Amino acid sequence: METIFSKIIRHEIPAEIVFQDELVTAFRDISPQAPTHILIVPNKLIPTINDVTVQDEATLGHMVTVAAKIAKQEGVDESGYRLIMNCNSDAGQEVFHIHMHLLGGKKLGNIV
Ligand code: 5GP
Repeated sequence: METIFSKIIRHEIPAEIVFQDELVTAFRDISPQAPTHILIVPNKLIPTINDVTVQDEATLGHMVTVAAKIAKQEGVDESGYRLIMNCNSDAGQEVFHIHMHLLGGKKLGNIV
């Protein structure tokens, strides 16, 4: 079932999109937890990490290279940043269209 992220990808509802190509879309989180907080999402709907298949490997790898490119654009590549993907309820996943959080621009607390 589609989420709000599919509408953002199709430009049907507003979001500050910072990068888009045929595989992924990246936009600023509506409720930023750090000075830089960007979500990188596959254009294809994949509800959770549990639903990822071998066919998705190129897209998931691309999400990481796009994240690195955006981190440089945002000026946090040298200071540092964190990439997070939440899966299901214990991790606090709220939107069931997989996404990678890119957080940076401040000292981030240790979680692992
Ligand atoms: P999750 O908890 O699922 O890993 O993260 C979902 C993220 O999506 C949250 O950080 C939340 O603030 C963000 N989010 C939810 N709805 C919207 C929206 O409509 N627009 C944008 N830009 N971000 C959203």
